[in-house]
Amino acid sequence: MTEAPPELEVAACGSCGFLDHPAQEFGCRRCGAHGAALGVERVPARGIVVSSAEVNLYGGTDITAPFVVSAVRLDSGPVLRVTMLDTTPVPRGCAVIGVVSGGELRFVQENGS
Ligand SMILES: [Zn+2]
Repeated sequence: MTEAPPELEVAACGSCGFLDHPAQEFGCRRCGAHGAALGVERVPARGIVVSSAEVNLYGGTDITAPFVVSAVRLDSGPVLRVTMLDTTPVPRGCAVIGVVSGGELRFVQENGS
């Protein structure tokens, strides 16, 4: 097994147990609970790729194209849009894990290099 992945903070509903990211100020997307019913839970940055796209043209200054953005369903449930460390698109269904590179959270194929 590989090194434990970094953890992410996700919104946790104390009423129904739903985990979500990012937290919604209007409350839980599943049951509508809000206020004190909502908390934070730390979950491993590990999941399965739902979709992936290579970005070749980008106007921002925070990252240089080309890069790959993937939607990842974390093992704990929330779906996040993440930036992959490598510039090769990742197949749907591929297991990925978070790594910290240059102070930024990126994802790589698990058990890959
Ligand atoms: Zn809820």
